[in-house]
Amino acid sequence: MSSSEAAPAPATPLPPQPSLQVVPNIPRRGRALVAARAIKPGEVLLVDSPLLLYPNLDVAADSASSSSSSSYCAHCYRTLPSGGPSFPCLGCSGHARFCSDTCRTLGAACSHTPWVCRALSILHATAPHLPPPLDHHPEALSQAAFLIAAYNLSAISPDGFVDLLSLQGGATPEHAALALHFLVASLSPVPTGPAGFSPELTASLLAKDKMNAFGLMEPATGGTGERRVRAYGIYPKASFFNHDCLPNACRFDYIDGAVVGGRNADIVVRSIHDIPEGREVCLSYFPVNWGYKERQRRLLEDYGFTCECDRCMVEKTWKDEEDELEEEAMDDEEMEGGEAGGEDEGMGGMEDGDFPHAYFFMRYMCQRESCGGTLAPLALSAQSVVSDVMECNVCGRLSRGDDPDTDPGSACLQLEANPILIECGLSSLRDPVMSSLVYVSM
Ligand SMILES: [Zn+2]
Ligand SMILES: [Zn+2]
Ligand SMILES: [Zn+2]
Ligand SMILES: [Zn+2]
Repeated sequence: MSSSEAAPAPATPLPPQPSLQVVPNIPRRGRALVAARAIKPGEVLLVDSPLLLYPNLDVAADSASSSSSSSYCAHCYRTLPSGGPSFPCLGCSGHARFCSDTCRTLGAACSHTPWVCRALSILHATAPHLPPPLDHHPEALSQAAFLIAAYNLSAISPDGFVDLLSLQGGATPEHAALALHFLVASLSPVPTGPAGFSPELTASLLAKDKMNAFGLMEPATGGTGERRVRAYGIYPKASFFNHDCLPNACRFDYIDGAVVGGRNADIVVRSIHDIPEGREVCLSYFPVNWGYKERQRRLLEDYGFTCECDRCMVEKTWKDEEDELEEEAMDDEEMEGGEAGGEDEGMGGMEDGDFPHAYFFMRYMCQRESCGGTLAPLALSAQSVVSDVMECNVCGRLSRGDDPDTDPGSACLQLEANPILIECGLSSLRDPVMSSLVYVSM
């Protein structure tokens, strides 16, 4: 079209109306994210980039001796192709490997600086001989890796470090934190940013990690659905979501996806079902199928509160019958081969009034044995059409969500996860989603 033609001005798409607003103080809940308007199922509510990532170094799984952690790019944590080309770190003789020369260069400048390289190398060598009480602490190596990443952040990005310190969580140094502090101090002289390096700061950082880290899962194998955590990330904006044992949103990662712009470690939070305006939007901080006692224990230990969500109010009256019911539910699921109709029997003969969340379990819980994931529709299309394809946020399985009587085996779309995710999920992300967060004061 020539510029001289008097063409009508192209319609400017209206910016998407903000879906969430931050409410600073909801009674008994504190700061919360609330639906600023009616939200449809599968809406992308947030895309968040990590402040830092660090490897899951599991002593038991022998990953500290470089088998597992080096299966992933030491910068972006993509799965490295087995037998394919990889780009070893030149500083630690290939202990850390990268997916590309770009990641190796980026890593040397930020995530795998010479200090991180040296500290992690020594940590790997020290791993079999950790001093007590760390030798009996399964998370000690991962926590040490977190501290290395955090103190590295303080040196390379003081602003990012301020963001990290602004997250919820605080603690005074106790025995394990002190031990971790002196472990990190012993590895290599710590490059101190403006915040310094002290036992108090270390304890505070460990508390931030405990309350705010998200696990990034290993690739789904297509077998049992069991996946370990490959790495952890601190996602500052996603940390705004409070917990609910029956969440109305859940988060996904597409770390091995073909995501453009080097943002493969971003996490995506999508709504699970309709959320009316004014309702708080919550995630579950752990698998939804955990029992009442286990959930309460974790929330008290790691997050310092007792959950009084609707589900907990019902389940706390179940008392000691709970474990029995849980087992019964599991048995039924196995007997039914994971058929979606199996939960009715899994209620252990309870009336609907006793188990008001039966529908949630039937509709939004992954039916794959031992997965424990939550299902949400694929992202809304550009035309705001709600997808009838549900995606599991743990095993990644896709299924048709509108027919609970369908055998999940046949309903499972026989598609590789990544192409459809790119096609139906990530391509419709409206970035930057965080700009749609509105801060309101009350
Ligand atoms: Zn990479
Ligand atoms: Zn290195
Ligand atoms: Zn609860
Ligand atoms: Zn699943």
